[in-house]
Amino acid sequence: MAENESLAALAGELTVEQKAALCLGSDFWHTAPVDAAGIESIMVSDGPHGLRKQPGRGDDVGLAGSVPATCFPTASALGSSWDPELAREVGAALGVEARAQDIAVVLGPGINIKRSPLCGRNFEYLSEDPHLAGLLAAAMVGGLQSQQVGASVKHFAANNQETDRMRVSADVDERTLREIYLPAFERVVTTAGPWTVMCAYNKVNGEYASQNRWLLTDVLRGEWGFDGLVVSDWGAVHDRVAALAAGLDLEMPPNLGVSDHAIVEAVSSGRLDMAVLDQAVARMLRLVERARHRQPAAMPIDAHHRLARRAAAGSMVLLKNDGSVLPLADAPGLTVAAIGEFARTPRFQGMGSSQVSPTRVDVPLDELNAALPEATIRFAAGFGTDDDSADAELAAEALRTAAGADIIIAFLGLPPADESEGLDRRHIDLPDAQTDLLAKLSDTAGGAPIAVVLFNGSAVRTSTWDHAASAVLECWLGGQATGSALADVLTGAVNPSGRLAETIPLRLQDCPSFLNFPGEEGHVRYGEGVFVGYRGFDAANMAVAYPFGHGLSYTTFDYGDLQVAQAGSADAGDLSVAVTCTVTNVGARSGCEVVQLYVADAAASVARPPRELKAFTKVDLAPEAQQRITLTLTSRDFSYWSTTHRRWVLEPGDFQIAVGASSRDIRCTQTIVIDGQMPALPLTGMSTLEEWLADPAGGQALREAIGVHPDGRPAGILGHEELIRMIGNIPLSTLAAFAGLGITHELIDRLTRTES
Ligand code: BGC
Repeated sequence: MAENESLAALAGELTVEQKAALCLGSDFWHTAPVDAAGIESIMVSDGPHGLRKQPGRGDDVGLAGSVPATCFPTASALGSSWDPELAREVGAALGVEARAQDIAVVLGPGINIKRSPLCGRNFEYLSEDPHLAGLLAAAMVGGLQSQQVGASVKHFAANNQETDRMRVSADVDERTLREIYLPAFERVVTTAGPWTVMCAYNKVNGEYASQNRWLLTDVLRGEWGFDGLVVSDWGAVHDRVAALAAGLDLEMPPNLGVSDHAIVEAVSSGRLDMAVLDQAVARMLRLVERARHRQPAAMPIDAHHRLARRAAAGSMVLLKNDGSVLPLADAPGLTVAAIGEFARTPRFQGMGSSQVSPTRVDVPLDELNAALPEATIRFAAGFGTDDDSADAELAAEALRTAAGADIIIAFLGLPPADESEGLDRRHIDLPDAQTDLLAKLSDTAGGAPIAVVLFNGSAVRTSTWDHAASAVLECWLGGQATGSALADVLTGAVNPSGRLAETIPLRLQDCPSFLNFPGEEGHVRYGEGVFVGYRGFDAANMAVAYPFGHGLSYTTFDYGDLQVAQAGSADAGDLSVAVTCTVTNVGARSGCEVVQLYVADAAASVARPPRELKAFTKVDLAPEAQQRITLTLTSRDFSYWSTTHRRWVLEPGDFQIAVGASSRDIRCTQTIVIDGQMPALPLTGMSTLEEWLADPAGGQALREAIGVHPDGRPAGILGHEELIRMIGNIPLSTLAAFAGLGITHELIDRLTRTES
């Protein structure tokens, strides 16, 4: 309070021009100083998985001139860790690097939902599921801000594609926004207190996010209590005054001489209330004030590289491991054929504003050689990382190299240019050059197993080729230590424990968003509604290549003894459902299991997904060890967003609690009954006869008003049950025109007066 008052007092001493200047940066990466008032400029920098500080002029959007920083796993990988503690550690390390580079705010994490595997920035986003994305992001923000460095949670909201991203209107119904696209932001804001939120480029339901008052003020501040600063995405402001009025505090980069003049003019002409400007200025001053507590730090290059390695290893997802061909056992005489250019030239991050200049890069081939000193490792490139069609000579050399090997490791992945900010992919296939080579390797391997390792930041189709591989390990874009982390997992030094944060479909066409992506004529219709990712695949009961939540381990886990205990009540708002089960490591190695809890409303009056992730935990168990796990759910976990009531509604009845190892590997279930009252519908003349009769008070009033015959039988329509069934879905005011039913306009007027 005292801080707010002194900031308000300081704001009060500034001229309108100084205030306007504070609502714009001073250059691409700095906020504006006001020297006369002792207000400093602070520097902000990208981005989600490593710092991209451009100290000089740089080229601002590329990599040029950015200082070396640890390239941690991208969100595609970190999302697959299902490990909030790891995300917190990475966030804290980012904070330390920001302190070392004198950066006040890191522009991340990116937490948009992966609506389609085609989105060019999926590698920067955590998941197709809002619960998973929200929990990981909140942990990362907590870690970052523990260093007195601010986060900028982005891109708020519904920025789920790159096609026409600066202009497209994401046309999303409110229920879908509330249940899918907003909850990750809501969780971060309500639990981690980010210093800033970055608005998206796109429009949301026809209004630019930067000018969307409903988003930036009503929901973000009014409902969620956000007390930080809203910054524009770089270049997202089109009308500075409208944006300020909607709740956008800081425009980046600054439209100097235009936006500041527009603000001054709007205040002078009375078009913009000075109080609105003052509020934005106070938020700006608070940000500068918060940033002052940051202490310089040394750059712990080695320690952060080790963390990057641990995080990358913890994020890799073992999709398949037939015959337990992995891990590789080091042995004299073992011959491993490492095929694929990615073994020598790893892909570990995507292109665009998140691109980091790494402090070092671990090369998979070198790391494998170091990890398997007894074995012989042969290498052939097989293809160029950018090649679409096969290079016959490279392919022939690869086949010669693989001949006679005990195991072939095929290093496959997407061409770097395929995954970038600014553009979406057009398909989800690996290049033919790679899949053709894999087929040939399989034909000529003479029984030697093939393990495929994948480098891609967003789902690729596996169904056309994975029959040729005994094992498939998805490495995602795992940051600068991918190479050593991969060696750790391939040799079993680390037991893989990543789980899919997005579904891998059999075909792109199966994806729920397929028919509505990326839209046309300036609009993209989110036609699949809440059925995004596994919610849609499961609702349509559609086969997938690898389901959401899937990931194998070198050990196995048993689940049992599920118990569910309810306390409190939905109506009182203190419902708490404790779900407890026992997980046992029944294999021979230590390993981590991700226990996933899905909830379904067994009979709902609105369309709801058959499974929704509501809680999870990652446990580390030694062989034969077991752990009793409790996951707790609240009312919100059972509720849907009601468009009628404009709020979360828990519809009483049966709910299924399902605990398992993936959305398609449910190990134990229990159905519980949750009691409660549905909120009453506001009854009007347009409410149907059925709705009136279903409402206890409304039904009674209607019955009394229509009355009874002298012999006691219900009068009018109420005496004809079959007719009620037939015309029960007609609004009362329409029925007033039907003679003989006992319903008149006068009666409706009387009833609705009483009701209101
Ligand atoms: C991106 C943001 C990024 C900003 C600054 C924009 O193009 O969308 O994610 O933080 O540039 O580089």
